[in-house]
Amino acid sequence: MKFIDLHSHSTASDGSFSPSELVAKAEEIGLSALALTDHDTVSGLPEFLEAASKNNRCEAIPGVEVSVELMGKEVHIVGLFIDYTSNALLEMLCEIRKHRNQRNELIITKLQGMGFDVTLQELFDVAGGESIGRPLLAKILIEKGYFSEVQEVFDKCLKRGAPAYCARVLPSPDKAINEIHKAGGVAVWAHPLYRAANDRTYLRKMLRELTKFGIDAMEGHYSAFSEAQSRAVHDVAGEFSLLISGGSDFHGTNQKGIELGKGYGELSVPYELLEKLKAKAEQ
Ligand code: AMP
Ligand code: MN
Ligand code: MN
Ligand code: MN
Repeated sequence: MKFIDLHSHSTASDGSFSPSELVAKAEEIGLSALALTDHDTVSGLPEFLEAASKNNRCEAIPGVEVSVELMGKEVHIVGLFIDYTSNALLEMLCEIRKHRNQRNELIITKLQGMGFDVTLQELFDVAGGESIGRPLLAKILIEKGYFSEVQEVFDKCLKRGAPAYCARVLPSPDKAINEIHKAGGVAVWAHPLYRAANDRTYLRKMLRELTKFGIDAMEGHYSAFSEAQSRAVHDVAGEFSLLISGGSDFHGTNQKGIELGKGYGELSVPYELLEKLKAKAEQ
């Protein structure tokens, strides 16, 4: 059976593999298609597509993952098959990264206030790409010996409600979905269920809004999903006539336990999903 992975991260955001290393890994494990979907940046895509063009075993899909705010919640929208030279898309992503950088400065000030020796310059020095998020800060604090696990840093400093947390300004879902569409892409609600949540009422409530803005699909296959969660997403997608996407959300060694294409071992995203998503993008 042919299988695919439509959600992954490189060093352009918070993954540990470079875009070409991701392509090599995808070929090694026999993936038929892989999408690179870095947070709020498309800067890894030229290298990604170039690496994949050197063979025709693994189809490379240009993507991006945009964080938006809907009804007080942070929601992630993955764009697939995007034209990453689209000016309006690039402008939106640039604006989002500006807010990321402003937040990083505020977080660092708070961390310094808590007594941690860490600077903005160090963050830039360690960053592989232009979209810098909290996981990198966690990595620095671990390397300095303050903590041993990423989760510990989030719990004690970085998660919502923790002392060094700062909110960042997020775009609205209609803006993100609209720019993805204008760039020729399909818009996917990424990991619509979080952790152990399995709430169909929540999915329906959010989708009543997201469908107004033209969301095309939901991730029905995801590393962290139980069978029941996957079934809930598939059922509700059917109610709203949405397509299904799926991926591992691979971050390399920055997210332990998750393998490209395989998630925690049980993930298997069928190739047929890609054909439907592609047909939608070509409409
Ligand atoms: P950022 O892009 O800076 O908002 O960071 C988001 C990333 O941080 C997510 O993709 C997760 O990898 C990680 N993250 C967010 N919240 C938590 C949390 N409560 N615990 C552990 N990791 C988290
Ligand atoms: Mn991430
Ligand atoms: Mn996400
Ligand atoms: Mn992701």
